[in-house]
Amino acid sequence: MENNNICCDNMSNHSGKSNELDDLHDSDAIMVYVSKFDEYGILIKDGGSSYIQIQYCPWCGTKLPDSKRDEWFDELEKRGFYTPFNSEVPEEFESDRWYKKP
Ligand SMILES: [Zn+2]
Repeated sequence: MENNNICCDNMSNHSGKSNELDDLHDSDAIMVYVSKFDEYGILIKDGGSSYIQIQYCPWCGTKLPDSKRDEWFDELEKRGFYTPFNSEVPEEFESDRWYKKP
């Protein structure tokens, strides 16, 4: 796991990354880190790509990052993307690059 800010080994061992979200549902991972929203979630293994967002690590209790989901929509709206899930958004919005300035 190449998450620099991951809170503990348990989280590291049980979580996967969002760019493999579909694969994660067939894997042993039970948690996901969604870099574009900077949020963690519990995978819902119903064959889709859903997860339940969580605010604290279930193992060590660390407060997880505040989700940037609202900002993600705001920033895209400024660029004219009003239905980002139905459009092809700029590549940096598929990862943490839109808020992590180099
Ligand atoms: Zn933890």
